[in-house]
Amino acid sequence: MRVLVLSDIHANLTALEAVLADAGSVDAVWCLGDLVGYGAQPNEVVARMQSLPNLTCVLGNHDAAAVGKMEQDTFNNEARTSLIWTKTTITRDTRKFLNNLNEKEILGNTTLVHGSPRHPVWEYIMEPYTARLALETLTTRYGITGHTHQPIVIYFDHKDELHWEIPVVDQNYQLKGSVIFNPGSVGQPRDHDPRAAYAIFDPETGIWQPKRVKYDIFYAQLLIQQSGLPLQHAVRLAEGW
Ligand code: ZN
Repeated sequence: MRVLVLSDIHANLTALEAVLADAGSVDAVWCLGDLVGYGAQPNEVVARMQSLPNLTCVLGNHDAAAVGKMEQDTFNNEARTSLIWTKTTITRDTRKFLNNLNEKEILGNTTLVHGSPRHPVWEYIMEPYTARLALETLTTRYGITGHTHQPIVIYFDHKDELHWEIPVVDQNYQLKGSVIFNPGSVGQPRDHDPRAAYAIFDPETGIWQPKRVKYDIFYAQLLIQQSGLPLQHAVRLAEGW
């Protein structure tokens, strides 16, 4: 089974289209949330996602805030400006789609959450302590998270020691025991690699393959600028931070 794993698209349709073209044919699409926020094309991204085969998507913090399920005061200044723009720009169809997303989805041996298994929508797995708690909370063999915009692979080895790895692009990861994967961000990478990040996963063999693809960053920046969104969200796309 070939599953396309996407996270943190952030209304960047240009990056999403590049990922879809690069990934080729897939059996299913799993999305870790944050379809909207920061970027200029929230409605186009949600419509494109709905056109994909066997889509399963969970709720991100930006999605939750866009439909009023999360306080916008929890966002920093520029993220809040972008959120207010998103709230007034999304159509009824987009709002309905985001409103129907669950915080957690369990598909066979895999749990999908935006943040972490403990706090699905908002917790960041940014360091080993939270990573350990996340792995201990996981009730399935595999967990897939987004939210940090940084690709990562986390697991315990046979001595119960925690491994925290920044995965190598195009390399196959097949690990014993429980594992948490993060594919990184499609629409706003923050690991100083501006290319759109995603992953191909086979839940039957457990093989995870991190991928990167170039896209037309200048065009995505132009759309942000023309929409009157905070310029910082355009600038950072060029460097991936
Ligand atoms: Zn995000």
